[in-house]
Amino acid sequence: MNWKGHTILGIIFGLPFISSPEQIFLALAGALYPDLDHDVKEDIVKRGILISGGIVFINILLYFFDKSLFNIDLFILGVSVLLIYLIPYFSEHRTLTHTFWSLLFVSFILGYLSYKLSFISAVFAGLISLLMVTNEILLGRVMIFAIFAWAILDIIKLNPGIDGTLHYILPIIAGYLSHLVGDSMTPAGVRAFYPISNYKLRKKEGYILAAIWIIMAVYVWKDMIF
Ligand SMILES: [Zn+2]
Repeated sequence: MNWKGHTILGIIFGLPFISSPEQIFLALAGALYPDLDHDVKEDIVKRGILISGGIVFINILLYFFDKSLFNIDLFILGVSVLLIYLIPYFSEHRTLTHTFWSLLFVSFILGYLSYKLSFISAVFAGLISLLMVTNEILLGRVMIFAIFAWAILDIIKLNPGIDGTLHYILPIIAGYLSHLVGDSMTPAGVRAFYPISNYKLRKKEGYILAAIWIIMAVYVWKDMIF
């Protein structure tokens, strides 16, 4: 599936878990991350490794030269973000980034990072997440869809009332899940349990994942529906 398919599917899957329009960026970040393992996205991955690696390196220097300035939270976050980029850097196409493990890991780290950045501004946090997985060309293309989704969300004003870090993590999980569903529908399928198992998710499993998404959405909205 290409970026356009993943963008549209990511927006659709993200909708039930979005409480404010700028969260559309989070769903898109989740939907676009897995294909960072494509060679054409190498510039994004290298940039990410450079920035997060720099943060880690500075923290290590601070630890040895001025412990009072060393920040353990920033260090752990830096290492986690570095891992987010090392996974696609070292994996072949449609392997590790297309698994349930990386879905959970990446969604949690990206969501936590957004949660931390939201103290500056929620829009800023969302934009950073999307910037982390796109280059200038892809960002420009995706933005057109994001802005339309934003406008629609501003009119219909969905609010499932999700608080705290889950407010940031759930839209990313939904977007990520949409990517696995989308790729399951293609002839190549997805080895979502790699490297433990080479079992391939195909159309049938794609429908099962879509059903899980529906159950998640109903669960989140149950207080409003029933
Ligand atoms: Zn993919």
